[in-house]
Amino acid sequence: MEIKGVRIKKINRYKHGEGIYELRPPEFFSVPLVADDGEQPQRAVNVGEGVKEGSLIAKPSGRYGTYVYSPCSGKVVGVVKKLNASGIECEHVLIVRDLGDEKETLEPLDSFHQDQEHLLKRLYESGMVDNFPPYDPAYKKYLLKNKIKTLLINVTEDDPYLSSDSALLETYTKEVVEGARLLQKVANAEKLEFVFSTNNSVAKSALSTYLKQKKDKTIKIKTYPSVYPLRNARLMAYYETGVMLPKGARTAQMSIIVDCVANCYDFFKAVTNGEVVTKKVVTIAGNNTLRKGNYFISNGTSIKHILSVVGYKDKFVENMLVYGGIMSGIAQERLDISAGLTASVILFCNEEEYSSEGESPCINCGRCLDCCPVKLNVKRLDDAIVERKYSYAKKLGVTACIECGACSYVCPARRYLAQRMGFAKDLAEGKRGKRPSSSDYVLVEGEDLERDDELETSEEKINTASEQLPAVDEMLSILAKKTEEEASVDAKNNASKDNKDTGGNK
Ligand code: SF4
Ligand code: SF4
Repeated sequence: MEIKGVRIKKINRYKHGEGIYELRPPEFFSVPLVADDGEQPQRAVNVGEGVKEGSLIAKPSGRYGTYVYSPCSGKVVGVVKKLNASGIECEHVLIVRDLGDEKETLEPLDSFHQDQEHLLKRLYESGMVDNFPPYDPAYKKYLLKNKIKTLLINVTEDDPYLSSDSALLETYTKEVVEGARLLQKVANAEKLEFVFSTNNSVAKSALSTYLKQKKDKTIKIKTYPSVYPLRNARLMAYYETGVMLPKGARTAQMSIIVDCVANCYDFFKAVTNGEVVTKKVVTIAGNNTLRKGNYFISNGTSIKHILSVVGYKDKFVENMLVYGGIMSGIAQERLDISAGLTASVILFCNEEEYSSEGESPCINCGRCLDCCPVKLNVKRLDDAIVERKYSYAKKLGVTACIECGACSYVCPARRYLAQRMGFAKDLAEGKRGKRPSSSDYVLVEGEDLERDDELETSEEKINTASEQLPAVDEMLSILAKKTEEEASVDAKNNASKDNKDTGGNK
């Protein structure tokens, strides 16, 4: 299988023993009530209420929502609506931290309760959110009913700066492996595999050493070339199975689930200690950062606070802050945003790393065509979108774009290719306006999008496989029924065994 993409040079390679820092907590948190691509949870606290670290502050709403928990002990002092780091307007709960260190946890699950049903419920309750596209609640990919062959833990760290997975895996090897085993039970998967790229040898050797010590030969280790992108679940499933799933389809349909190191670690803690998720390991890097490294950062920590702790070299300007990595992250126009649970990289860049120069005309070099992992004709798509031929863009397959940003990265003319693809995809899927700034890359002065009459109706329903997923309560009742049936088969087997042992006499 040919692996397409951009060959990357690791700028921020994890070094043995670097570990993870705990970021000094701020006095004030602003917790966004939305996963980057998820549904808005329903707020469960009011202004004036006291909270502990781990107290519930929002409940799932809709079919696939998620729980949100307080990152600190303190008092709720306000609720505001503002943009999060992905440009989505959502409620933020403002909490002032007190000096208390009280924590609220869920009941730890003993080994008796570590069956598929209880574990799926814990995954749902824990507030875990994927930190890789499409940034869904972590339980969602475990909802399909078909048999899963492989649970694949993706440690490829394809962004040149990203090293948080290596840091977690080297520092907490046992927890990550045990967490992966628990996720394997949720998936009821036959096999468990860890996938690395040639760039993260430290983490790979930490895992190999641990497995050798444990004499564990059941976990397989694989290595991919260091290309970008690899962290996309659909793409990884394609490389593993040779079948590219349509957008919205779950990799479980190909009997494969792709998860990450952070979720393994968080799930281990959620099961064994009952700890809900209130923080993530984030790589803080970029040439303008004084103290680069991997930090545990609590949900709702302001970017200004992170900057004040890690320090910066030159005067810091907006737009040089990239939330989510250099390849597909979002350059922020404002600093009044806070870190959520989905980013694994935050970059404070300087001019060497991030050019604010505008785009120039295409020089027909073909690099964008060579690197697109889903084999789109990027150049033709760009022309179509610039000319407002959105229906044609849809026919050319723009909805298959995974918005990895590889085309923009390699383009010598600095064309806003990925941004335009994202915009045209939103139009094709009827989601226009979800990303408020994306139209900036398409519109030119004096033109008005509303004039476009070529676009097919945006109300057109996209029939994605995800709509056929069971909701978590349906899934839990299926599993509960299965457990009851299994228990009754066991009881019958035991009774007939007892009968045989006693010769059938009472
Ligand atoms: S067109 Fe989409 S999938 Fe292809 S390289 Fe560009 S952003 Fe990635
Ligand atoms: S990489 Fe940029 S300049 Fe080269 S063909 Fe693609 S759009 Fe044109």
